[in-house]
Amino acid sequence: MDIRLDPDDAALAAKARAFCDEILLPLEDECEENDGLSAGSHAAAKQAVLDWDFAAINHAVADGGKGYDVFQVMLVEEQWGRATGALWDIPWRPSIPLAAGTEAQKDRYLRPACRGERRDAYAITEDGAGSDVTMVATTARRDGQDWVLDGEKWHVTSGDVADFFEVHAHVDGDPAKATVFLVDKDTPGVRLVRTPKYMHTFVFEHPIYAFEGVRVGDDAVLGEVGQGFELTKDWFVEERIMIGARTIGASTRALELSLDFAKERRQFGQAIADFQAIEFMLADMAAEIMAAKSLLYRVCWEAARGGADRKRIHAQASAVKLVCSETAGRVIDKAVQIFGGRGYMRDQPVERLYRELRVDRIWEGTSEIQRLVLGNELKKRGVDAYTGWPGRD
Ligand SMILES: Cc1cc2nc3c(=O)[nH]c(=O)nc-3n(C[C@H](O)[C@H](O)[C@H](O)COP(=O)(O)OP(=O)(O)OC[C@H]3O[C@@H](n4cnc5c(N)ncnc54)[C@H](O)[C@@H]3O)c2cc1C
Repeated sequence: MDIRLDPDDAALAAKARAFCDEILLPLEDECEENDGLSAGSHAAAKQAVLDWDFAAINHAVADGGKGYDVFQVMLVEEQWGRATGALWDIPWRPSIPLAAGTEAQKDRYLRPACRGERRDAYAITEDGAGSDVTMVATTARRDGQDWVLDGEKWHVTSGDVADFFEVHAHVDGDPAKATVFLVDKDTPGVRLVRTPKYMHTFVFEHPIYAFEGVRVGDDAVLGEVGQGFELTKDWFVEERIMIGARTIGASTRALELSLDFAKERRQFGQAIADFQAIEFMLADMAAEIMAAKSLLYRVCWEAARGGADRKRIHAQASAVKLVCSETAGRVIDKAVQIFGGRGYMRDQPVERLYRELRVDRIWEGTSEIQRLVLGNELKKRGVDAYTGWPGRD
């Protein structure tokens, strides 16, 4: 068994790290101090994404993406996850279900989105529908040749910069007919309700949008009527793995910063790193990151190159998201402790990561929901997805 990165993968990870260091990290203070970036900084960062060839890392070359597999996308996201302010969201990564569109839909939405000319936001969650997606109250009903959408979507990440939405709705109010509709933001009846403030500083917003008598045609249906839950599940799987990647990147940065600080900071006549209380915190951080990162790499390798089927990837993505986000929570808590009072100051990356990593245990399925997925898999198919190991022919 050879678990080394091949040279192409290693070069890609190094390039992603350089992009983070040279393009994203210099924007952190501006983002924190102004609760976002100026139009000029946004434009420069967007141009950098194109110049560095990092547009749409998750889509096929035929659709204008980079054609990277899940393992490679993970390597990139791990490095970008080191950035605070969710600056990792600047390089656009159109949602994966868009690949299920018709050629006409791809020409209208996916390909321009890959080029950076359009941007999507995925809208599932509602006031009454969170973990339980079947509670979605947004409806789509037939009126002549049209579909008419009515509902309200919460926490629509990047909704402020998106110009179209993937709207998860129930045809005739029937959860068995969950369907994803592609809705242009400028369609009559799409209304910004409000833009709430959140715990983290995020380079974009998470607005609430209302869809009131929004008329779209059959060409707005992504995939088939009734296929919505499966498409949304594909989105969850991709996002859960990428959350795993970014939380490992963030945790690693927190450990690096903590180690440097602990070696420099002197109290009682010695570096605080030499107090065993601090050394043990650093040790636990390192060991936990190593364990979670090993899981992340193994699962992504299996998904991309190890022949795992869709069910297995779905089952394993939940373990990745659960373990990596919970690890990150413990790691960043220790990092703030090691930094002492400085760890509580917003100009310190560890303070920002402390606030920002909290949501990773909530969005794209809470930790409890990931445990439900694991439990269901164990009951249905046994332990193999978690404790087995893929063999070679
Ligand atoms: C910053 C941010 C950005 C987001 N971006 C998006 C986005 O772009 N698009 C989108 O559609 N959504 C988005 N979300 C929504 C997010 O996915 C939901 O908040 C999340 O899935 C949880 O749903 P909820 O908030 O309704 O909580 P609830 O489902 O109401 O859960 C409340 C609590 O009950 C627990 N719980 C619920 N069911 C069970 C159960 N069966 N067993 C045990 N415990 C349970 C939960 O784990 C949680 O602790 C975002 C959320 C945030 C905070």
